[in-house]
Amino acid sequence: MSTTPSYCVNHPQTETLLRCNKCDRPVCIKCVMRTPVGYRCKECMNIQQAGYYTATPVDYAIAGVVATIASMVGGGIAAVIGGFFWFFTIFYAPAAGGIIAEIIRWSIQKRRGKYIWLVTCAAVVVGAFIGAGALPLMLALASIGRPGLFMAATAGILGALLNLGLWIYLVLGVATVYARLRS
Ligand SMILES: [Zn+2]
Ligand SMILES: [Zn+2]
Repeated sequence: MSTTPSYCVNHPQTETLLRCNKCDRPVCIKCVMRTPVGYRCKECMNIQQAGYYTATPVDYAIAGVVATIASMVGGGIAAVIGGFFWFFTIFYAPAAGGIIAEIIRWSIQKRRGKYIWLVTCAAVVVGAFIGAGALPLMLALASIGRPGLFMAATAGILGALLNLGLWIYLVLGVATVYARLRS
């Protein structure tokens, strides 16, 4: 490393002793960023970030669809457990969230996306409501024109929405997905 001052690649008037430790070009204090691995110029930082996030729009679509389907199952099970022993969903929800996070990682081939966690969490919420409400909703559709059954179906939908197991699943499951994918 030379100690004679060079001139910044972006500012030819500015003398500097700093060099990017990746491309080794001289850069001034305004053009450099301190990273855990040393000084880097902005271009090298951008290249590194672009390489870090490798997910394509297709990956986002896959994450959304797969997480919705997985959470329809996960949320449906949570609602069933919650209907009997809501307490068990405290243990079930993080496990289900962990499994969904792994399924998403696997289905997008471990590519990274800045907002994959966000898409997945939103899909988990949507999927859970569909999953938990599916049975009462089908009952409601089947009961059109039959007042007694319609009342039962409405009660079922309300019951699904008031299901403590579903809400525990939403909170703990989403928190787990967030923690696993936001890294
Ligand atoms: Zn550089
Ligand atoms: Zn500069």
